[in-house]
Amino acid sequence: MNKLKNLYNLQFQFDKIGLLKKEEQEIKRNYSIIENGTKKKYSEWKQLKIKVKNMKAQLTEKELEFRTLDEKRIAYEKNLYSDYAPKTPKELQELQQKIENMKLSNQNIEEITVDLINDVEKEELNLSNLEEQFGRCKEDFKKEKAFFVSRMYQIEKETKEASEKIKYFRSLIPQELLDEFDIAFSRGQKTGVVRVVSGNCSGCRTVLSERLLDSIRKQPNSLHYCENCSRIIVITDD
Ligand SMILES: [Zn+2]
Repeated sequence: MNKLKNLYNLQFQFDKIGLLKKEEQEIKRNYSIIENGTKKKYSEWKQLKIKVKNMKAQLTEKELEFRTLDEKRIAYEKNLYSDYAPKTPKELQELQQKIENMKLSNQNIEEITVDLINDVEKEELNLSNLEEQFGRCKEDFKKEKAFFVSRMYQIEKETKEASEKIKYFRSLIPQELLDEFDIAFSRGQKTGVVRVVSGNCSGCRTVLSERLLDSIRKQPNSLHYCENCSRIIVITDD
């Protein structure tokens, strides 16, 4: 059996941990995107809810204003035809003018009220759409959270298992080979051992020389290094 195989097995576990770490970052990123999106939807919904509430309060206020002014106008009109009606033409004209102004004011209030009713209707529709969107976000977030919790647990478990395997493989490898591995590992940015894949180095993709490939085939138990990246090259079955 190829004595160097365990070097590759050791590297394989480091690669696995690296992939798990990458996956963990990706999951965390997705989780925070969905979490922030949900929070944003909620705050949009809440803000619009307050806006609609204020608009409705304004509407009630306008309606009250309209009624009050209208009652006042009716009283003035009654006055116009009562025993207390102004006697002089000037007073009469003033009263008529007042009534006319009230009518104009109320027309104005009515216009504002109609606009408000339309706006409230429009924003209530937006609010219900937002509420629906928020509901969907919440559902998505719930699912993402469940996935996050279970996958993170799994990743932690798998990382632990890989660390155990690293310890195990290290115990099988002679110290001088381990020293070589550790040097290559730090030099090769956490990839100390590479494979030959169709005559190329799996670490840096360089085409390996026939001389080197021949030497690896003839002496599979000796250490060989990539001519380009200086990582340890091991022949594997696959
Ligand atoms: Zn290489």
